[in-house]
Amino acid sequence: MCLTDKSTIIMADGTGLAAAHADASKTKPSPRPLQIIRLGTAEENYSFHLEQANLDSIMAQVPSDMKVAVVSVVGAFRTGKSFLLTFLLRYLRYGSVLDDSEDWMTAAGDVREGNINEKVLAGDDGRNALESSFQWRAGKERTTTGIWMWSEAFVRRVANGEEVAVLLMDTQGMFDNETSMNLTACIFGLSTLLSSYQIYNVQNRIQEDNLQHLALFSEYGRIALAGEAGKLVRQGNKQGDEGADKGLEEKSEGGMEAEELMLPDEDEIPFQRVEFLVRDWMDFDEDLPFHQLKEEMDSYLQDVIEKGSVKDLRQTREQILGCFQKVRCFVLPHPGLEVPKKAYSGEVALINPFFRRLLNHYAREVFGPELEAKRIHKRDLTAPELRQYVSSYVEMFKSGTRFPEAQTMLEATASANNQNATQLALSKYKGEMDAYCGPRVYEYRKVDDFMAHHRACKDAALQLFDSTATIGRKAQVREFRVRVLDEIEDLFSRYEEANANRNPFRNFEYYALPLLVALA
Ligand code: GDP
Ligand code: MG
Repeated sequence: MCLTDKSTIIMADGTGLAAAHADASKTKPSPRPLQIIRLGTAEENYSFHLEQANLDSIMAQVPSDMKVAVVSVVGAFRTGKSFLLTFLLRYLRYGSVLDDSEDWMTAAGDVREGNINEKVLAGDDGRNALESSFQWRAGKERTTTGIWMWSEAFVRRVANGEEVAVLLMDTQGMFDNETSMNLTACIFGLSTLLSSYQIYNVQNRIQEDNLQHLALFSEYGRIALAGEAGKLVRQGNKQGDEGADKGLEEKSEGGMEAEELMLPDEDEIPFQRVEFLVRDWMDFDEDLPFHQLKEEMDSYLQDVIEKGSVKDLRQTREQILGCFQKVRCFVLPHPGLEVPKKAYSGEVALINPFFRRLLNHYAREVFGPELEAKRIHKRDLTAPELRQYVSSYVEMFKSGTRFPEAQTMLEATASANNQNATQLALSKYKGEMDAYCGPRVYEYRKVDDFMAHHRACKDAALQLFDSTATIGRKAQVREFRVRVLDEIEDLFSRYEEANANRNPFRNFEYYALPLLVALA
């Protein structure tokens, strides 16, 4: 196991913490939550809108070849989700895996007192970063609508030794009176599709309806992303299903056989990790060491999962287990009577010490060695790839009141995947050709060598395309492949011309040869 001591913060201009500190005088926007998905009004039919500029600015910070993990918190509104995220953020900013103290919780205070990190972290306005944390507030009004992401990415080293950029996501409160069941399903579905680690915040205990909601929402995801999609699409094709997605329908009218589709493996589990985070748990012996408390949490989850003796409840549990590779549970006690008060303004000292103790363990678990990059169809995503999926999925949820059909989801996934495969292939070709004969290379490459290199790069690019574009309609994959080939041909002719211009014997026949003949 190999972990970094502290996370590195990637700044908006892509520099790490140290570089950013050296350049702290530069004007930078304060770290803050940015809305990436906005929820339309009732007049707009609650449609989802992508805040492209915000999404782009977050994704652009992450080095393009670094994998990304997305930690998301969902659950009923006013249950302390944003409050929790504020602490997760503090842990990412100040926490160290080498000592297990709670200092990171109060380290923001040091920032106010002029800690060395202040300018770097607080950006141009010089005020402390905590105040612009995820909003949490006492009262009944909602403060978060839509889906938000923290503007910074934090680099953590995960179990396999790789560095992963962590993004934090906050969602609009669900199950409130203003949000319809369908809309709730959409928000839950979308945040599950986009995250690698879904924290389902629940009050007091895991209730049957929590399980049912989770099963219902994740069932959509399973239909869309797992082997189930294949069955449905096949049925749709055979029966010419009227509700089928247009693109697929066209194909089935044109006699597309099911074999023309590339589908996920039947046993593929689409989502990575869901964790019930139970708040205000009352059943704790505070004197127990953490590992025993953890055992209690595990056996509690086991009880909840196994309790399903009635058939449909058992189905609910099976659905959840078939949908998430890991189902976990963590339990937090009540944070103390001061925290829910309107006058409370974030004083860590007023939080119940037992809550702080478990929160300390929790943050370490969330960002510990089990943290994984976001994976879709067995592929770990980089920021540009995730960006593509966010765009495709938001598009698919345009009508916020209606959950997309399985076929539409498959199509959206395939479309993002094809575009990613295209980008990957082209940047591979370009990267390798640039290094060999790009604008920064002054050496002339002999034609035979140049051609051999081009062919090798082209083959490698196509191989990467073929191994990535493994989902959706084969005809569409072929279209994208043709595009890749065309683009490679275009790039090739530019490299060829640039290389020819570097030939020292260029125009030899016109100038040098007659001169030599004349001299002879
Ligand atoms: P969200 O709507 O789920 O994001 O909830 P917020 O994070 O905005 O918090 C809502 C209110 O609950 C605030 O007054 C918080 O201080 C308070 N709060 C935060 N965490 C907890 C908790 O674990 N238990 C209780 N009872 N209240 C909490
Ligand atoms: Mg909130």
